[in-house]
Amino acid sequence: MAALVVQKYGGSSVADATKIKHVARRVARERDAGSDLVVVVSAMGDTTDHLLDLAASITDEPDAREMDLLLATGEHISGTLVAMALQAIGVPAISLTGAQAGIRTDTTHGKARIANVDPSRVREEIARGKVVIVAGFQGSTGDEHRTGEVTTLGRGGSDTTAVALAARLQADRCEIYTDVEGIYTTDPRVVPDARLLPVIGYEEMLEMAQQGAQVMQTRAVELGWVNGVVIAVRSTFSDHPGTLIKEVSAMELRDKVRGVALDRKVAKVTLVGVPDRPGIARGIFDPLAAAGISVDMIVQNVGHAGTTDLSFTVPAVELPRTRKIIEPIVKAEGFRDLVTADDVAKISIVGAGIQNAPGYAARMFGALADAGVNIGMISTSDIRITCIIPSADLDRAARALHAAFRLEAPEAVEGGVGRV
Ligand code: ADP
Ligand code: ASP
Ligand code: MG
Repeated sequence: MAALVVQKYGGSSVADATKIKHVARRVARERDAGSDLVVVVSAMGDTTDHLLDLAASITDEPDAREMDLLLATGEHISGTLVAMALQAIGVPAISLTGAQAGIRTDTTHGKARIANVDPSRVREEIARGKVVIVAGFQGSTGDEHRTGEVTTLGRGGSDTTAVALAARLQADRCEIYTDVEGIYTTDPRVVPDARLLPVIGYEEMLEMAQQGAQVMQTRAVELGWVNGVVIAVRSTFSDHPGTLIKEVSAMELRDKVRGVALDRKVAKVTLVGVPDRPGIARGIFDPLAAAGISVDMIVQNVGHAGTTDLSFTVPAVELPRTRKIIEPIVKAEGFRDLVTADDVAKISIVGAGIQNAPGYAARMFGALADAGVNIGMISTSDIRITCIIPSADLDRAARALHAAFRLEAPEAVEGGVGRV
């Protein structure tokens, strides 16, 4: 039986007609090698951003259902064009919307989760000898809800479409094609000597994605982990084998930092003069949770004279909604002030080797201090240490941490960072 390969091409890989034709030739080559193919596409170039801007120029509060129907069109354009490009070079192909491809989601417009995949239509088209192009980043609500409402999966969601299809179809390979050669120790556009990782474990990749490494959507890594899908991240424009994201045995997890994740899209909220009594935190964070706003780092200062200051971060895109929810609470509870800032960024060191090794935090703070970078907030997990810093310092901080942990050095000779 022919191997089944799921490939996903990101926005910059299908940004114009020339690139779409290049993608079609790449797909044709894989087909000539004897594979069946499902090809997931993102919207061309910055299409999704343009659609968001267009909606924002009409209204401050676009209806979530209409917004999803609008955003989904970006992937319809690229999907149809890739299908035409394949047909033009003699490859039978059909494009499907997410709904036609059986991607069923919950009803959370803007960041819907895939509930299940009905693979019947995709399988039928493959059996007819066609390359199946699937519009990424979208699905539709399933039978238990009002059926057929179009949903989107959150920014970068085409990665998740690809991994979900690979899992459901039990594909032999799942390949994410993008504009860099794979997963690097940090964003190679910021740190020129970032090193390509041949392999990274799901846990470390998940943490990198959660902390801002946009190269893979967080949900896609999660889905891959849960379903044991080995994900290859590769370049559309070269034949380099790229990076494999897969289960890595504990023995292979060396005592070291794997990478540095950067997130520019962060906003900080500070509540000044908050009464120091039980229930206050719930009064603030319950309404944010109910609105689906994910609060990240939370720092409460030591109280003085019955009041305290409370700071937390949210994704920058959620700042206007956050202010709207918090402002009435500030008034009603008599907090002294509400201060927000979007000129902050998040920088994290990530690595399973950080676990139980106290030296890493000191080393990170030391490297940032030497680079003259002021730390605003700190948080940690088992395998990560994160600092909030001024966004103007992010690139310098990234280079400093990359050098301090010697991430440019090939793994074979590096020997890890000592536990100090
Ligand atoms: P696509 O449109 O193909 O989905 P994205 O823009 O979503 O591509 O993701 C690729 C980008 O992710 C790269 O161009 C790179 O700048 C950025 N990136 C951030 N961190 C990393 C990392 N650790 N390794 C590789 N790329 C990274
Ligand atoms: N086009 C969508 C976005 O820009 C989805 C994706 O690219 O994966 O977020
Ligand atoms: Mg992406």
